[in-house]
Amino acid sequence: VAFATLGLHEALQRAVKDSGYENATDVQAQAIPPALNGADLMVSSRTGSGKTASFILPALQQVLEARAARASGPKVKVQGPRVLVLAPTRELAMQVSKSAMTYGRHIQGLRVATVLGGMPYALQLRMLSGPLDILIATPGRLLDHINSGRCKLDNVTMFVLDEADRMLDMGFIEDIEFVAQQLPKERQTLMYSATFAGHTGRLAEALMKDPQRIDV
Ligand code: AMP
Repeated sequence: VAFATLGLHEALQRAVKDSGYENATDVQAQAIPPALNGADLMVSSRTGSGKTASFILPALQQVLEARAARASGPKVKVQGPRVLVLAPTRELAMQVSKSAMTYGRHIQGLRVATVLGGMPYALQLRMLSGPLDILIATPGRLLDHINSGRCKLDNVTMFVLDEADRMLDMGFIEDIEFVAQQLPKERQTLMYSATFAGHTGRLAEALMKDPQRIDV
């Protein structure tokens, strides 16, 4: 399927083309259109399937839409990120950040922050203190910042859980539930997991409304 048919903003299509991709992978073709329509999704797809772009492109589209709405509406100061992505490990979180920068390269002044264990605390505080479009974090470290009152999540319109089953295997269930409680009820949630059996399925039920299932 050609990227041009998926309904992505011109700035995103251009970035995809810069990366040398004409056609979407299966997971991208199946997840991007419903994600752009605001659906909640539970997605099973392997690493290497192009799954990162399948949620980062819709996330960037939300950022663009929020900007367009703000440009035509009254000036209100928005605090905290529009999009929150949770990932199980530093490596994965950094990979997601890299994708956000790559596919967001034609969005002027895009603000992406990454919050992970092992990163200097002062640097993280600096990243969280200004206006922000997309925040990518590992659950434990994000919790520290929420508890210290330095991270406001009440403007989040899209919540993404990458490799949710791995996050649960690592013991992050309570952290994820706490983070979810800080988010607006009215939001979109995209959950990626190798399996939706057992506790991962229960978490999916708790976090999503009528999710569409995508299995590729
Ligand atoms: P991921 O599954 O997100 O870890 O992506 C695996 C690799 O696929 C990454 O190196 C991407 O750059 C690459 N990739 C993402 N989308 C496409 C696409 N539509 N066509 C070819 N490669 C892609």
